[in-house]
Formats: sequence, structure tokens, C-alpha cells
Amino acid sequence: MDISRRDFLAAVTTTAGAATFVSALPRRQPDFAGEMSIQGVIDLILRDLPTDPIPETVDTVKIGDTRQSVSGIAVTFLATSAVIEAAAAQGANLIITHEPTFYNHLDETDWLKNNPVYDAKVSLIERHGVVVWRLHDHLHRTQQDDITHGVLRTLGWEAFASPEDNYLCKIPKSSLADLADFLKHRLGAQAVRTIGDPEMPCTGIGVLMGAWGGRRQIEYLSRADVDVVICGEAREWETTEYVRDANEHGMAKGLIVVGHALSEEPGMAWFSEWLRPRVPGVDVVHIPAGDPFRVV
Ligand SMILES: [Zn+2]
Repeated sequence: MDISRRDFLAAVTTTAGAATFVSALPRRQPDFAGEMSIQGVIDLILRDLPTDPIPETVDTVKIGDTRQSVSGIAVTFLATSAVIEAAAAQGANLIITHEPTFYNHLDETDWLKNNPVYDAKVSLIERHGVVVWRLHDHLHRTQQDDITHGVLRTLGWEAFASPEDNYLCKIPKSSLADLADFLKHRLGAQAVRTIGDPEMPCTGIGVLMGAWGGRRQIEYLSRADVDVVICGEAREWETTEYVRDANEHGMAKGLIVVGHALSEEPGMAWFSEWLRPRVPGVDVVHIPAGDPFRVV
């Protein structure tokens, strides 16, 4: 029997309330304000995150002088110009961003020479003397995938997660429409987009936040134990058309697209809480980048 949306919300809320997030306590408790360099903070994070070293990584300093003392840390999904302004206004000189600063995965900037938007953003960063450091690969490669862990916490779905697969949840039966509505409200979206029969029953959920690419999204959608994939973004001529074809061939599959920023911001919120006790005396703020789109 389908559960009502209210029961569904109650179930996940209870689960969220019972959830525990016990990080290992920091090993020492000095006051780091004014005495630790930004490079020291970066080194500390890379040391304490339970990830094997990643030789080829995008988790590099994008701009700024890391030898300066850290005055405050802002954590965000993406260092937008508005986030940079807000971080500086709150006294932060280190911005930890999950996604790129300069509009491509490797933050290559050769192609942006004399680009007015790039120039304006660099000027803004230099004016405030902030350092932008990306933290992407190391968060996704922890055993629990810290980004997904933060999302499951926000959704109250930790108890529903498969012990074998970080990205698979078995939730109480819900219609696709109710599930979409739930995600919209939990993630603070103006709208989410769905493909599939709104009344289709959903229990097996692939929680593939961010942009996994068509093949990996379709791999999950092809599994018998996956009814729906939730993603940040999907190429509209790949995954979305696979789901449309599946339904036209009588296979009930659903896709819910929530937007990349909203899909991963809860992971960075979780990370800011992980970081705070490790840098005593330094303010760590989470500044959501927000949804870049406006729905009309
Ligand atoms: Zn990510």
C-alpha cells in the first residue's frame, strides 16, 4: 500500500532525528586563529579526510596566496562572485569550493584571457585577498562519499541506504510525484523536473547527485532494484531519453532532476561541520551558492 506523503515525511524525519554524525574528535585543541596558514588548513584537511592519496586531482588551489594566516573559512558548492563577496564580508580569506571557479572542470584559464567576466572575477578575488581551493575528489572518494552522506542526512535517508552501495536507497513506497515534491522541499528547490508516470511506485532509488554522465546514470536505471534515479543534472539527449524510451516500452522508470547546485550543497554543509572542530578559533561558515536558475 502506498504511504501518504505525510507518513513518508514523518518516517524520514524520524530517521533524520535518530541519525548520529559522530566524527572523530580533533587530535589537538589549540586556537588556530592568526597562527595557522591557509596552506596549513589545506594540509590538515587532506591529512584528516579518510581518503587514499589522489595523484591526479582537481583539488588544487585555484587562486590566491596560501602562505597568509587563515582569518576565516567559507565552504560552498561553488565560489560564485556572490559567495566570494559574502565570504569576504564575513572575514573569511579561504573559500573551499566543491566545483570549479572558472567554468571548466580543470579550471584552465588560457582560453579566458581578456574575457570580461573572468577578469571581473579575478579582480574581485584579488581585491579581497582570498584563496579559492577546490575540494571535490577527496570528498567523493571517502568510503561513504561525504557529499552523498551529507545529502542522505538532509533527506533523512541514512537508514534507507544500502550497506553495499552508497548510492542506493530503499525508501518506503512513494509515488514519483510525492517523491519529487519531497525532494523539492527538502532541497529548497523552486522546482524539480521529473520523467516517468507520476503515480509510479518508487522504492529503489539511485541517489546520484551532481552530474554522473549518461552511461553511469543509465547503468543504475537498468537495474531491477532501481525504480528512480535522482540526479543533479542529466544530458537531455542521453539519460532523459533513455527514461522516456523505457516507459514507452512498458518499463516503469523515473528520473528526478533537482539541479546540480542544490543536489550537492548538503554535502558541503556536512563538510563545514566536519571541519569546524578541527580548526578551533577559526570561523567556518557554510555559504550556499544557491540555484542559479529562476523558474518562470
Ligand atoms: Zn560532487
